Amino acid sequence: MTHSHIPFSTLLAHDEPADFRAVVPPIHQTSLFTFGSFEEMEKAFSGAEPRFVYTRVGNPTTAHFEAKVAALEGGETARAFGSGMAAISSAVLSHVRAGDRIVCVNHVYPDAFKLFTRMLPNFGVEVGFVDGRDSGAVIQALPGATLLYLESPTSLTFELQDLRALTDAAKAEGVVTLLDNSWATPLYQQPLKHGIDFVVHSASKYLSGHSDVVAGIVVGSYEMIDHIDALATPLLGGKLAPLEAWLLVRGLRTLPLRLAHQGANALELAARLETHPLVQRVHHPLLPSHPQHDVARRYLSGPAALFSFEVRASGDEIARFVNALHLFRLGVSWGGHESLVFPAVLGHVQQGEPNSYVQFEVPKNLVRLSVGLEDRDELWADLEQALAMIGTQDVPHPKERGCV
Ligand SMILES: *Cc1c(COP(=O)(O)O)cnc(C)c1O
Repeated sequence: MTHSHIPFSTLLAHDEPADFRAVVPPIHQTSLFTFGSFEEMEKAFSGAEPRFVYTRVGNPTTAHFEAKVAALEGGETARAFGSGMAAISSAVLSHVRAGDRIVCVNHVYPDAFKLFTRMLPNFGVEVGFVDGRDSGAVIQALPGATLLYLESPTSLTFELQDLRALTDAAKAEGVVTLLDNSWATPLYQQPLKHGIDFVVHSASKYLSGHSDVVAGIVVGSYEMIDHIDALATPLLGGKLAPLEAWLLVRGLRTLPLRLAHQGANALELAARLETHPLVQRVHHPLLPSHPQHDVARRYLSGPAALFSFEVRASGDEIARFVNALHLFRLGVSWGGHESLVFPAVLGHVQQGEPNSYVQFEVPKNLVRLSVGLEDRDELWADLEQALAMIGTQDVPHPKERGCV
């Protein structure tokens, strides 16, 4: 099935009429699918007539979500998993074996970092980290590697990679490329068109958009996804459940609207923060001041709503700032309808070695914002009043603000 000629908004808003001409496709909430006869089952098992057998491997509702995201990314097919990490680990583990080496960019998502540094070495897979902004350094690390793992932009410091330069070099070296596209979504960046082999998403973020689903997806060619189907999907068993897939199809319908609104909100707040005397630097790829703005303009067709800034404040003052916010709630994750704040200094205190915040030297005065659908001026007023608390002592305890 190819949808490449259909505009995104139509593709996401429209489904073929289901049974009874229902406008919304049903949730196929079933673990298994039965067969009418021995012969029918034999055809399915021998591969002569592929069909749904068991939901750990495939389910029509999950397949519906997979087809939509594959079409958005311009990929042949996709596989959805129970989390972004399940998608990432399934794609990676299906493509490496003992003795292989992975090249990964600095500032990669912290749990992907932990997969590479804490788990894969147990299976004889090595990883080397490089500055993804420096194409020359990445290319130099490629000979002899199996997999190049990218994330552009990265989700704390918003560093970009020049995808075309890296995929050209990776192809010449026979290195498989995988890119985490959670920030841009396929609406604003389509890495497969720039030669990337696999795109992965945490669908828990913008694709869902409502902070009520944890999910992930891998998109690529039939040939690349076949490796995942042969090993990780059935054997690691991280397949996405049908109810979650149904919620994701529902969330996707408004993706273009959500992203346009939230991205515009975010870019405006980022620009206002740049002029604030207590703000040292703002990291959003679509701000003209971003050091890789030229790369951003080549690959990103719009602004997502997650960015960070460095504040002129100590650890205590950052705590005061975060506690003073009303609309930006303190939490991990991002991409939902609600605005969130996450101070990097809390990543530094997480236990377990190695810690990516420490290894990549994420600035301790960095604060990340996920901008939601709230009123832009109210969000700005919230940031302003909380920034004004830096350097003062009289902040009401969170309980008095009615936030806990
Ligand atoms: C959240 C996130 C992930 C992991 O996704 P989960 O759905 O939480 O497993 C991967 N990459 C990025 C950039 C993320 O923000």
